Amino acid sequence: MRVFDNHAHANEITGLGAEEVAKRFKRAGGTGIIFVALLTWSIGGSPGDMAWVEKLYEHTVRNSEIAKRLGLISGAVVGVHPAECAALKDAGWDEGRIKEFMRRTVDLAARYVAEGRAIGFGEYGRPHWDADRRLVELCNEVLEYVLARARDVGAVVHLHLERKGEETVRSVAEIAVRANARPGSIVMHHIEPRAVPAARELGLVPSIPIGRRGEFEEALRLEPVYLVESDYIDDNRRPGAVIPPWSLASKIKRAVERGLASEEYFERIFENARAVYAALFRE
Ligand SMILES: [Zn+2]
Repeated sequence: MRVFDNHAHANEITGLGAEEVAKRFKRAGGTGIIFVALLTWSIGGSPGDMAWVEKLYEHTVRNSEIAKRLGLISGAVVGVHPAECAALKDAGWDEGRIKEFMRRTVDLAARYVAEGRAIGFGEYGRPHWDADRRLVELCNEVLEYVLARARDVGAVVHLHLERKGEETVRSVAEIAVRANARPGSIVMHHIEPRAVPAARELGLVPSIPIGRRGEFEEALRLEPVYLVESDYIDDNRRPGAVIPPWSLASKIKRAVERGLASEEYFERIFENARAVYAALFRE
């Protein structure tokens, strides 16, 4: 049975780093893993600095290269988190300047994808916390640009969003239509199981974090139309915030042993990853 962790981070500055994360994942039965960019300040940078954005993208690409070298299927998703928008707003940047900066981060990500160094953009999106309306609107404008550029270069997009069920799904789908996005290329990262059917119906790709209490069990009652993720952040100061990729692999194995779902069920989930990241599977 093959296991694909659709969204994980690795950071040797705050935690184990990609090499150890990938090794442990593989040992636990992992097959593929997508490494997603962290925050610029999680690798020592500061918000609003393109030089640090580039370092961040390089770091993410390196993580996925390490995983590939160890025999895993892997790809890098590069971009700037909505928390960076919030940080810039707090630092007194005006909205025009923030938007311009975010667009430049998207254009840089597009270059990585066009050159074959990254498979997608992310995580872009909106604050998951209660943010002011202006900030959410700004994030939505950036998001439309993200989706349009993703279509241009054939990138997958990992979206970081609030968890408001169908309301969130519908709002993303509307932006996707405006941006003429490619169906099956927009991943709703960290989605809650109850929003999965609506996301699928609207051509979005749901990705469920299986570390959250009760949600894995809830997910197993759904058709296997989603992806699974650890959302590991590899930060020693925040242990237990999410599960590591190797726990994702062993949790899946245990679920099969306990008869909660069949191997066939998880194979179909793996095949969903193949559909989203066809290019990685051809390498
Ligand atoms: Zn993440």
